[in-house]
Amino acid sequence: MGRDTFYVTSAIPYVNAEPHVGTAYEIIACDFIARYHRLRGDHVHFLTGTDEHSLNVARSSAEAGITPTEWVDRMVPKWQEVWRRLGISNDDFIRTSEPRHEERVQAFVQRLHDRGEIYLGTYEGPYCPSCEEFKQEKELVDGTMCPIHGIPVEVLKEENYFFPLSKYQERLLALYEERPESVLPDFRRNEVVSFVRGGLQDLSISRSGTDWGIPLPWDPKHVVYVWVDALLNYATAIGFGTDPEMFDRIWPADLHIIGKDIIRFHAVIWPALLMAADLPEPKTVFGHGFVNVGGEKMSKSKGTGVHPFELLDHFGVDSYRYYFMREIPFGQDGNYSWESMTERHNADLANGLGNLASRVLAMLGSYFGGTVPEPVVPGAESDLPAVVGDALRRYDEHMLGVQLQPALTAVWDIVARANHYLVEKEPWKLAKDDANRDELASVLYAAAETLRVLTVAIAPIMPSAASRLWAQLGQGEPLEDQRLPEAGAWGGLTVGTITAKGDALFPRLDAA
Ligand SMILES: [Zn+2]
Repeated sequence: MGRDTFYVTSAIPYVNAEPHVGTAYEIIACDFIARYHRLRGDHVHFLTGTDEHSLNVARSSAEAGITPTEWVDRMVPKWQEVWRRLGISNDDFIRTSEPRHEERVQAFVQRLHDRGEIYLGTYEGPYCPSCEEFKQEKELVDGTMCPIHGIPVEVLKEENYFFPLSKYQERLLALYEERPESVLPDFRRNEVVSFVRGGLQDLSISRSGTDWGIPLPWDPKHVVYVWVDALLNYATAIGFGTDPEMFDRIWPADLHIIGKDIIRFHAVIWPALLMAADLPEPKTVFGHGFVNVGGEKMSKSKGTGVHPFELLDHFGVDSYRYYFMREIPFGQDGNYSWESMTERHNADLANGLGNLASRVLAMLGSYFGGTVPEPVVPGAESDLPAVVGDALRRYDEHMLGVQLQPALTAVWDIVARANHYLVEKEPWKLAKDDANRDELASVLYAAAETLRVLTVAIAPIMPSAASRLWAQLGQGEPLEDQRLPEAGAWGGLTVGTITAKGDALFPRLDAA
């Protein structure tokens, strides 16, 4: 962990468009991870924010006849509203137009300049305005188009300040070799390694001809290249240059979660900038895949984005968050559809966890007046404690390895086993004869105890449903105060606790 903090970040999106399902996907993954680390007792710092010094912002605002500042001030609340509805628990939100960011970016580039890591030069080459990046001729499609955006590149010639990226080739290759976890998943690291082996060009880190950006302290006719400006948010937000105590406590980042399209910025340029500034590199850069609907990337620049509210309104926040993390192996591209969301909601949530909760709480209500009975028959719990223990161990292992899909599969193994346990024990039949009262009490204790542990386990992915279930289970201690592995230890449910069946957690949804 950072010096003593688990520091996780999302990429900071451009604010020149509305949030879409793809950007929501990334922030949900970050939130799941951040909440999981809090659950295991780590001190977490979860950062997100917005990237505002884009050329596209300057263009969009000019088209709208307002200033760039007015434009971003209108856009940012739209993003924050989506994050709020998704239940995102970020500890900080940085806007790159904030004074705290601007002054610390200037401190960082001044440090590079002072260390002889910046020189003046000219550069001419093909430039994609959507990537905000000079391209190499060899990567253009048909010699004229951006390989990512499929739009024509522009030829830009500028006198700029350069960062000598090329001289970091060997140090970067040594980093990937010595610390393979520095870029994940493995197949993305392999792509990065072969890119770096192919040779690196020095990086133009300033732009002239615009005043939308952060001026270089020693030559204010130039503004800092937006990508360097954006990458630095990870350092400026935690006090680089002004709050060394905070910075040293939190840096280096444990986990930068980013889309695969910006892996080179994060796994090549960013560590090289940090090396040049004599700062530690991030521990892990994780490049996730794209989320596709109907086979086409839901990209804002293609105008086919689906707004998360359309899905949130129908499926609810818990089902939404669960679906994307459970359906798509994190790191790979994946597809989603309305039909598949409905199927998974009904199978895993309505029939799985929701059915387990409603059956257990209803039987506690009918047979014991809602009070958790004492388990008096040895062995009545069958293998549930072992199943729970094993699943929580796998859950932890997968979460620490950023394998979010198998992590949830492990938790849902508990759901499946607990539902099957009820089918085996048939408490509704035991309840017909008073002679079985002790057995019935022991079976329902075991089922309710399993439900208690499950509630703790699902809190990072479904915070809203977990808190409702926690209340139905009559738990007085705040759910946020629970810690794994302690709260996963069998027998934590207090005999005599008063439970109450509430509304269904996950009402079934009609097939579309
Ligand atoms: Zn592009």
